[in-house]
Amino acid sequence: MNQCKTTVIHTNGSECGNRSVVVIGGGASGMLAAIACRKAAERTKKGCSIVLLERNVHPGSKIKISGGGKCNVTHQGTPDELLRIGFLRQKEQRFLRHAFYSFTSNNLVELLFRGGVLTFQRDDGKVFPVNGNGLSVVLLLEKLLRESAVNSFFSNRVLSVEQHKGQFLVTTNRSSFIADVVIVATGGVSYSRTGTTGDGLQIARAFGHSFKDTSPALAPVYTKKPFPLAGVSLCSIDFLAQAGDDRSVVRRGDLLFTHHGFSGPVVLSLSRDIAELRAIYANILLFADLFPELTKVELEEKLLTQARKSGTQMVRKYLQGTHTGINNKIVGIIPSPLVPYLMSQASLDNDVTWSGLLREKRQLLLHALKHFPLGNVLDVPLDQGEISAGGVLLDEVNPKTMESRLVPNLFFCGELLDYAGEIGGYNLQAAFSTGWLAGSNAI
Ligand SMILES: Cc1cc2nc3c(=O)[nH]c(=O)nc-3n(C[C@H](O)[C@H](O)[C@H](O)COP(=O)(O)OP(=O)(O)OC[C@H]3O[C@@H](n4cnc5c(N)ncnc54)[C@H](O)[C@@H]3O)c2cc1C
Repeated sequence: MNQCKTTVIHTNGSECGNRSVVVIGGGASGMLAAIACRKAAERTKKGCSIVLLERNVHPGSKIKISGGGKCNVTHQGTPDELLRIGFLRQKEQRFLRHAFYSFTSNNLVELLFRGGVLTFQRDDGKVFPVNGNGLSVVLLLEKLLRESAVNSFFSNRVLSVEQHKGQFLVTTNRSSFIADVVIVATGGVSYSRTGTTGDGLQIARAFGHSFKDTSPALAPVYTKKPFPLAGVSLCSIDFLAQAGDDRSVVRRGDLLFTHHGFSGPVVLSLSRDIAELRAIYANILLFADLFPELTKVELEEKLLTQARKSGTQMVRKYLQGTHTGINNKIVGIIPSPLVPYLMSQASLDNDVTWSGLLREKRQLLLHALKHFPLGNVLDVPLDQGEISAGGVLLDEVNPKTMESRLVPNLFFCGELLDYAGEIGGYNLQAAFSTGWLAGSNAI
């Protein structure tokens, strides 16, 4: 590890005719950019000096905590499959396509395999290191950086980047560097304690770039009056956020009650849309459809059948548990702690039986099951998102190279760009792929 204590100008080989490249940020995208840059230099037999600047004492802080430390490095599938499932907005899919084809999830798995980090694929397509340890991925990337003769300077926070006569002057808290090419890979703004405070956005702005304001994504949602049901989960529900009469967003999946509101896959997935609505509307109401596979008519028929079959059964007894439909397919699961809230929402007495359930009350129960109110959104905390949305505008970056369309020899990659992926290894793959593409085109 290099640590400069005094201010020195590193000419990085420009004087001897070599191209000098400075990568800012030692996360997934920055490390891959530096490694790919060396590969490109070897392939084209060009001289090249590569410096990587990381503000933390060690690189890869987010890789280490990814997937709860187990590191869901990527997702199995073709680039098109990954883009379709992992990035729901078409503009982002289009922008990332070239990067995903340039460095695929198979390429990543192979790179890890060659370096001794074996991976396995879960049934849901998520890929993890077999050793269940994100640190092993970081250690391998550090080794590859050393083998690629990348000069890594840790504890070096880049404070500014300026351009003088076609070259860049990169100034950190400890030193200064002159470079022909700069790759900005400073990540998003969530989990800011890992070093991601949006510095790259200010660098981009200094070069005339615009960026979409950062906003939460893959974040929990806090509500004004959280249910005292922390730890309880709802499986395969439709999670709906409603703003005003005509604006709503919905997604299907599993939800987890927390002390502050909700988390779990469907909440994380919808949090970006909810945060965007919240920027416009003060009041956002959340609802769960506990039987999304059934229409209201089908569900009413199911309740009526049960009433005919077991008139003396208490409604609350029936509600809790797993409900099946045609071919024994599960159509709804109601955890028992939720039942009292459902009964209260439908204004039902605790001991009401099917035969005692009047039509009007049955309609209220139906409504509660299909449109159960989960509360009013208080906040979608930006810093707690696994990623942040927003960033350098995609229109201003060439998707075939990751080079700025405004400033030649300035590149951007990783979460700093205005894209946001779903849970499942898509974000790390996007960082690796865009980093690889930037590095490959940097010399
Ligand atoms: C808790 C958590 C769990 C996650 N789990 C997963 C998962 O399982 N799978 C998945 O695909 N994704 C996951 N992600 C998202 C994924 O980790 C990120 O999208 C990805 O790491 C982004 O890579 P990056 O290189 O763009 O940015 P980062 O990895 O954030 O790297 C940016 C680097 O730049 C450095 N830096 C910033 N400013 C400066 C500066 N001025 N000077 C020098 N250095 C600077 C930072 O210190 C940091 O090291 C998770 C994220 C979090 C927070």
